Amino acid sequence: MANLQYHQYPYMSDNYGVLVHCPQSGDTASIDCGDAAATNSALQTKGWNLTHIFATHHHADHVAGLTTLKAEHNCKVIGPAGINGVDQQVSDNDQFTFAGIEVHTLHTPGHTKDMINYYLPAEKTVFTGDTLFTLGCGRLFEGDAKMMWHSLSKLMRLPPDTIVYSSHEYTEANAAFALTIDPHNGALLQRAEKIKTLRANNEPTVPSTLAEELATNPFLRAQDPAIRQHLGLADATDEEVFAEIRQRKDNF
Ligand code: ZN
Ligand code: FE
Repeated sequence: MANLQYHQYPYMSDNYGVLVHCPQSGDTASIDCGDAAATNSALQTKGWNLTHIFATHHHADHVAGLTTLKAEHNCKVIGPAGINGVDQQVSDNDQFTFAGIEVHTLHTPGHTKDMINYYLPAEKTVFTGDTLFTLGCGRLFEGDAKMMWHSLSKLMRLPPDTIVYSSHEYTEANAAFALTIDPHNGALLQRAEKIKTLRANNEPTVPSTLAEELATNPFLRAQDPAIRQHLGLADATDEEVFAEIRQRKDNF
């Protein structure tokens, strides 16, 4: 049973922030905070008071508003080591409670080395930062393909009905790329149409569900025989297939 309320809002050119609110305690967490003004206006829209920030990684579009928001709201900041203003450092497999709800951390390096994802099992919800996107995955700025595949594999083991909040609206381009890797996947073809309609109406494609990603996101489908055959990598390891897909996306 979901106890928390979620409010997703766009900022910068293609980022999403999320506010997570507990109506009982009044606690509100902001997942990342790349733009303090955008977070503040989202808080104002909902009439919520910021008590926590969960930071995913050190990139400015995720943490540039952190010190401003902390000074204004005196909120508690949870995040990886190395980010200015973090009160509680987390790494892999840590647990803490937010508004009485358990939060588990997953360290998912690849895009950056410090990336932390936040999983709320009772809510069937995960915040994947720039690790897993709707139909995509983060670019490998600090890690390599092996590292990212291992990180994505952690997310793939969560229950399929988990709701996936990711940090960017990249989905239309992701869908176009996915179709070049997995052109005969009926679920993907259908999803790509749905995405076109959503984006034409300026509606978000985030969040999605892990089940949808497992069925259609090529970066999670390195085991898929049709994809392997399409790439001429029938006998490669999953890691090698993933690396090839990631490299093709970089050049897409
Ligand atoms: Zn990033
Ligand atoms: Fe980002």
